[in-house]
Amino acid sequence: MVLGDVEILRVVEWRGAFLPAGDLVPDVAPGVWADHRDALAPDHWDPVGDLAVVALQTWVLRIGGMTVLIDPGVGNGRERPGNPLFHMREGDLPGRLARAGVRPEDVDVVVNTHLHADHVGWNTHDVDGEWVPTFPNARYLLPAADDAYFGPAGGYGGGAHPVDRLVHEDSVAPLHRAGRVRLWEGVHRFADGLTLESVPGHTPGSSVLRVESGGDRAVFVGDLLHSPVQILHPGAASCFCLDPVRAAAGRRRVLGRAADRSELVVPAHFGGAGAVEVRHAPGGGFALGPWADRR
Ligand SMILES: [Zn+2]
Repeated sequence: MVLGDVEILRVVEWRGAFLPAGDLVPDVAPGVWADHRDALAPDHWDPVGDLAVVALQTWVLRIGGMTVLIDPGVGNGRERPGNPLFHMREGDLPGRLARAGVRPEDVDVVVNTHLHADHVGWNTHDVDGEWVPTFPNARYLLPAADDAYFGPAGGYGGGAHPVDRLVHEDSVAPLHRAGRVRLWEGVHRFADGLTLESVPGHTPGSSVLRVESGGDRAVFVGDLLHSPVQILHPGAASCFCLDPVRAAAGRRRVLGRAADRSELVVPAHFGGAGAVEVRHAPGGGFALGPWADRR
């Protein structure tokens, strides 16, 4: 995609049927997926198995000679007990990035919208048994609230999920040791037209990246949305939201602004075209506008 002077690439790590739809978005009544079959199947919902279809993917921005990576995936060779899709994964995201013309040394900035396992994995890679930054020249922009919560200061997410400590130790702590981290909070404009904004709820530091260029606008919303069904029902959290009520408030606010300002909404995990415009709908909800490939 092209947005003003920004070239936007998507590099997919994995795509498929992920979880029963009702498990991924438990607050949505079972019949809703079928009610919106035309919009959801097959890219976001497998009606045969009633499964949510998602993608694990990294968005790449090229702007003014700068290369920005958003949420570099799951990573390889990691201990992720209880998660067969992520555990000791052997994928080829770096190869796919290279084929898209993105070499590790060319990446200037890595954005982690939040510090869940599927957004930080390729922050690092294994060199002779040691985790080191995959993108050696990049500044890694991490939400300070997530670094505190999921790091040692927060007892690795309060110890609720043992995997949080593993994720921090193999995908975040090595960046600190290498001096590559820039922690931020609130609103953080790091380049012309690129602004990070904290939208807590999914995690304490969950954030969105607003992009503006030549009158065009997009907002990369990370895990504020896992499925288009949450645009139609913005009060519905995903099963991974740590604070579902706060997440819903943030989702309404970000979607409302996107509808007001014609921002293209680019979530972390949408399959299909991957990005969509939204419209206000009667009753305070939202409707799906054109998908990115139909703009
Ligand atoms: Zn995610």
